Amino acid sequence: MGIRVLPAGVAARIAAGEVIERPASVVKELVENSLDAGARVIGVEIRHGGLASIRVTDDGCGIPADEVALAFERHATSKLASVEDLADIGTLGFRGEALASIAAAASVRMTTRTPDADSAATVELEGGEIVRQAAAGAGSGTTIEVEALFSTIPARLKFIRSAAAETARVRQAVDHLAMANPHVQFTLRTDGRVQLATSGNGSLRDAVAAVHGAGLAQAMIDVGSWTGAYPAWGLVGTPEQNRANRTGISLFVNNRWVQHRAVGVAVEEAYRGLLMEGRFPIAVVFLDVPPGEVDVNVHPNKREVRLSHEGDAFSSVQHAVREALLAASPITEGEDLLSHAAVASPPSLQPELTFTTQEREQTPLPEPVPVPAEADGHAPLVLPPGASPLSRLRVLGQIGNTYIVADGPDGMYLIDQHAAHESVLYYRLLRQWANSAPEVQPMLEPLAVGLTPQQMDALDEGRAVLERYGLLVEPFGDDTLLVRAVPVIARRVDAAKLVAEALDQFAARGKSADTHLSTAASIACHSAVRAGQTLDHQEMTALGEALAAELNPQHCPHGRPTVIRVSTDVLGRQFGRL
Ligand code: ADP
Ligand code: MG
Repeated sequence: MGIRVLPAGVAARIAAGEVIERPASVVKELVENSLDAGARVIGVEIRHGGLASIRVTDDGCGIPADEVALAFERHATSKLASVEDLADIGTLGFRGEALASIAAAASVRMTTRTPDADSAATVELEGGEIVRQAAAGAGSGTTIEVEALFSTIPARLKFIRSAAAETARVRQAVDHLAMANPHVQFTLRTDGRVQLATSGNGSLRDAVAAVHGAGLAQAMIDVGSWTGAYPAWGLVGTPEQNRANRTGISLFVNNRWVQHRAVGVAVEEAYRGLLMEGRFPIAVVFLDVPPGEVDVNVHPNKREVRLSHEGDAFSSVQHAVREALLAASPITEGEDLLSHAAVASPPSLQPELTFTTQEREQTPLPEPVPVPAEADGHAPLVLPPGASPLSRLRVLGQIGNTYIVADGPDGMYLIDQHAAHESVLYYRLLRQWANSAPEVQPMLEPLAVGLTPQQMDALDEGRAVLERYGLLVEPFGDDTLLVRAVPVIARRVDAAKLVAEALDQFAARGKSADTHLSTAASIACHSAVRAGQTLDHQEMTALGEALAAELNPQHCPHGRPTVIRVSTDVLGRQFGRL
């Protein structure tokens, strides 16, 4: 699409305000233009915080010579044509304001060439007016030089602090643009020194390494979730990699760096119980939302976005990050239990299974399990077989009809049979949900269930969710429901209770990404073996194997441990062998 001046009606619908507040906003707008132009190599150079000069070079598509002057007109854009397009924005820019605003506030020179043009075009502007236009020799792509920013606008200069502070803001902007675009090679030079250089090899971890340092990036944990309403993915720090403020939390919605309170809180919530009060995680988190469900046209600088379903965004991010953190956390070590037991008088072997916050914080995290990334960059659903030490357990027996005892790599393993089975069933249900492929057990006779008016109301929203898990129901009169089929795993469960509980959850919380997760949790909880139930050897072995095959076998859906290991070291010390 060529560059055109937007019709007045469209221009009027665009969030008004100043696009260019400081040097960093110039850099952001210019780099976003380069990205929209499909650039793979982008160079940014600034002097004196960008106030003396800013230069952005790209190898993008360039601008045809006859459109160069138009690009600097207000509301001239090649990215938007109608009001309808505003609801479905796929480019970073769309307002056609940036070049005009920059040219009005500085001296600007642009040299640009499309791949098929014979020569490049150069245009120079002073105070927004073109003072020179000529053909020039240059490779394809675009270079823009901005000098003496704000020198004619003293009011704007008043808000600029030191050159060093402006340099830091430019660095922050380029850092985020680079992390959001790992396939683009970025270089940032400030006053002649290279501050940031990314390889453009497409690896998010490598881009994050360039920004946060290789050591930190290496230890960060992969996030990639398929269970929430929206895909959420990225890299998050281990609980040990924390900071005293929120500057390490970077959020991207549809690849745009944004400030969003709810999504930020979702990241922090995921670390609940893992971080000390007043400490904040490092996180680079991307959320993909259908363009129609996010409004970027809220604020002139586009850093703030409005999400139609904020609750879904919140839980998608919170669950994705939490899952990743729990999956990367180690099997709970039973060291404390035994040493406490040894000093307790009279000695008690009843282990305390709940984890205090403090114990959690002291638990070191292992290296993240190296999982091969899939083509779309999301983490795979299941660990490669044999990755978990749980895959090498030899079941010995059961304690109190509640805990399974097993011999395994480096020690003795105790498995909470209910929590473990619940976890296995929960993830099985979520996979079936993700694939829309429930394993269904039809009822021989439909089961009639009486419902309260609230439960009946909740059925409108809840029915589709229940069906996607294999609970096929249909209304029968005003206050009754017929259950026609149940999930295979729940075939021995009281279906009436299951349906009533799920509908109560809907009635209480409404529909959100969270609700389908709690439905899975409640089906899993009802269907899992209970504490106190005798299991034979074969059942226990099968449970151990099923647990080992899960992505997150160490914790049940509520985050409690499913397995505790008492290492051979601990045993050796307790028996006085070490
Ligand atoms: P917007 O990005 O909102 O369209 P801008 O004022 O930033 O508005 O840019 C105006 C137009 O100039 C763009 O729509 C695009 O066609 C063109 N343009 C600007 N920068 C570049 C670039 N680096 N490479 C190619 N085209 C560009
Ligand atoms: Mg732009």
